[in-house]
Amino acid sequence: MFSYRHAFHAGNHADVLKHFITIQLLQYLNQKEVAYTYIDTHSGAGVYELDSAFASKNAEYDTGIGRLWTLDDLPPAIQEYVDLIRAMNPSGKMRFYPGSPYIAERVAREHDRLRLFEMHPADAKLLADNFRKLDDHAAAQGIRPTVRGKRVLVTRSDGFASLKALLPPPSRRALVLIDPPYEDKLDYKKTKDALAESLGRFPSGTYAVWYPLLQRMESRQFADKLKQLPAAQWLNVVLTIKQPMPDGIGGLHSSGMFILNPPYTLEPMLKQVMPWLVKALGEDAGARFTLETGTQTTGTRNSAER
Ligand code: SAM
Repeated sequence: MFSYRHAFHAGNHADVLKHFITIQLLQYLNQKEVAYTYIDTHSGAGVYELDSAFASKNAEYDTGIGRLWTLDDLPPAIQEYVDLIRAMNPSGKMRFYPGSPYIAERVAREHDRLRLFEMHPADAKLLADNFRKLDDHAAAQGIRPTVRGKRVLVTRSDGFASLKALLPPPSRRALVLIDPPYEDKLDYKKTKDALAESLGRFPSGTYAVWYPLLQRMESRQFADKLKQLPAAQWLNVVLTIKQPMPDGIGGLHSSGMFILNPPYTLEPMLKQVMPWLVKALGEDAGARFTLETGTQTTGTRNSAER
């Protein structure tokens, strides 16, 4: 049950896609003063050491952040993402990589709330420890506390089951990130069911789901199933870095972010950034992206593909 450890994958191409989009979703929420809640149902450890035995085993970060680290002249959305990671690595050597909770902690404002769930005992402890260290660091500098100040709550529990109690949030503003391992094929159904229930409780929330593109049927049909959810609008973006091979050979080739109720700024930004990202991370002639959007009334609209 607990075989998945995100440390093996930290900073890979799938993390790049997920994390730069998460930053943009949070930045959009930051445009209004009213506080919001960021909910991470599957948080992982929060921060990863890229020179640890886990991360360096397959050096998956070489497919993602490793390729961007030394580049200049990045599109603004990628620049923001790389700057956040550079700020964690002031020596200039790429050593630490942020998980989604740490990214949210950096981008969200003092009055926003972070609610983080993680079920793996070791990663839940690491997550809590990492946020405690942030607090100690903040205290030493006389700046905002996070965990102790209740701005950030870390809970070791099932993120699917914990989500509903938080919806709707007090301010009626929230970003929910659902990022399960999908090693258990039930994660596809659990994600869709959690979204259906969440939309019933809080229809105007923004929900971002990361997913892998694999050969198993649940994966291939997943995006089409999410399109049937009763959200006013959705956006689906898929990044492929290399020619698809049978599962298990050559590692993950594609992943997607499916966003329910995306901000209107997301599609034009992705149209600019995705062609650049395909060039930067693409490994062979199979590298490409697809971007589609839809509404409940108009159905699917392919907006870009390359
Ligand atoms: N969101 C993280 C990030 O971007 O840095 C990565 C999360 S990783 C893909 C998935 C995590 O979900 C793993 O750490 C795993 O232990 C945890 N997990 C698996 N099932 C869970 C559940 N039902 N509730 C909460 N966490 C779960």
